[in-house]
This record gives sequence, structure tokens and C-alpha cells, in this order.
Amino acid sequence: MARKPFVGGNWKMNLHQAEAAQLAAALVQQIAADTSVDVAICPAFPYLASVGELLCDAASPIMLGAQDFYFQPNGAYTGEVSLSMLKDVGVKVVLVGHSERRHVIGESDALINEKVLAALEAGLHVILCVGEKLEQREAGKTDAINAGQIALGLAGVKTAQMKQITIAYEPVWAIGTGKTATPADAQSAHQGIRKQLTALYDASVAGSVRIQYGGSVKASNAKELFSQADIDGGLIGGAALKTDEFMAIIKAAR
Ligand code: PEP
Repeated sequence: MARKPFVGGNWKMNLHQAEAAQLAAALVQQIAADTSVDVAICPAFPYLASVGELLCDAASPIMLGAQDFYFQPNGAYTGEVSLSMLKDVGVKVVLVGHSERRHVIGESDALINEKVLAALEAGLHVILCVGEKLEQREAGKTDAINAGQIALGLAGVKTAQMKQITIAYEPVWAIGTGKTATPADAQSAHQGIRKQLTALYDASVAGSVRIQYGGSVKASNAKELFSQADIDGGLIGGAALKTDEFMAIIKAAR
């Protein structure tokens, strides 16, 4: 089944207002009306509204993404941001379970599942990130770790909601390190994920869910990674902060 490639730019805690606006404006101009690849950009919270306005004013097909949120609708949750607030400023896509939230901030699989369910209920598209640490890879546990994080992350997600889900396979040891899984290793992990989706749902769901690869994707390695049968684009960190690099990665996904 042909799946439309999907490339996300995770800006993390980088870029101030002027830089965020400049990068977004350059991407808007270069992508113009090209919809051959779905593209999302995820600025830091303070700039979601201004970047969202820029995308909206240009009628750009680039989707506004958020790096995080809290699953409760409102109330006494100091420092948190709700899904309705994100929707209010034009967010269409949310990241859930990014390795930095799992392993730096300490989010549990139970919290990740609450977030997935709330975001789906809110009608947003979810990029659920999974992936193994180096010691888990070395112990041959890559597929088991992915399977555990997917089963717990997607608990209670109905077949009809799987249209709103993208999985990002991001080996923790490859994120921001300059180390990339070989295309064959990434393909093997993606194939394992698709097999699990068949078991959890059915072949049609497994065949249509996009699985992005993330972990030091660059213009120089994107083409080979994206040419693998089960890799449907990427979630990009460092290389998403530079217009030329990110555009080259988007072109490699076409
Ligand atoms: C990410 O932030 O999800 C990521 C994959 O980062 P990088 O591309 O910098 O490894």
C-alpha cells in the first residue's frame, strides 16, 4: 500500500522568536503548495501562536505541531498546556512519548497513553515516538522494547482512530548524537512495528499507518533511509533547524 511520506521537524528547546519566524517563512516559501510530502513543524510553546499565524496567513500546507501538552482539559495544572489551547492556535499534530520526555523528563507509559487517548479524542494527529536505549539494542531487545512501548501507548486506541496515528521509531542512542541506525537495521525495526500493528489491529491498519524514522537524519543519509520499504519519512531534530538541510530531507522523502 502506498503511504504518503510524512516529515516532522522537532525544533525542541531551540530558536527564539525571530529565528523561528525566519525558518518558518523560508519553509513556507520553499514548500509553497507542494503536498507530495506531509510536513509538520513543532516550535517551542512561546512561538506556536506566531508560527501558526504565519502558516495560516500563507495558507501553507505545513502543519503546526506541538512538542507536548497535558491530557486534562483545564484546571489546576501549573505550567501545563491543554489540547484545546493548542487547537486554538492552529496545532494539528502532537508529539507523544519522545525519548527526551520519556528519559529526561521521566514520563511513564501510563502518562503517554493518557496523552495519546486525549489527543485522539481532541481530533489531533499523534506522532507516537518509541525506541530502544543503547544497552537494550546491544542486548537484542530492540523489537521487544518497541512492542512494549507501542502496546502500552496505544492501549484503548480503536481501529478507526489509527488514521490519526503515526509511529516514529527513534532509537534513543541515535537522537542528537550524529549516530544513525543503518538503513537495514531501521527497516528491520520498522518491519517489526508493522507486524505488531497487524497483530494488534489488522493488515489494513498496519499497511496504512506511517512509520517515521528519527535519529540524526540528515540530508546526506535521508534518501537511503527513506527508500526502505517500511520507512515513511522521518522525525527530524537538529537538521530541522536549517532550511536547506530540512528542505533536502523533505525532497528525499518525495
Ligand atoms: C528528534 O528530536 O526526534 C530527533 C530525531 O533528533 P535528531 O534528528 O537531532 O537526532
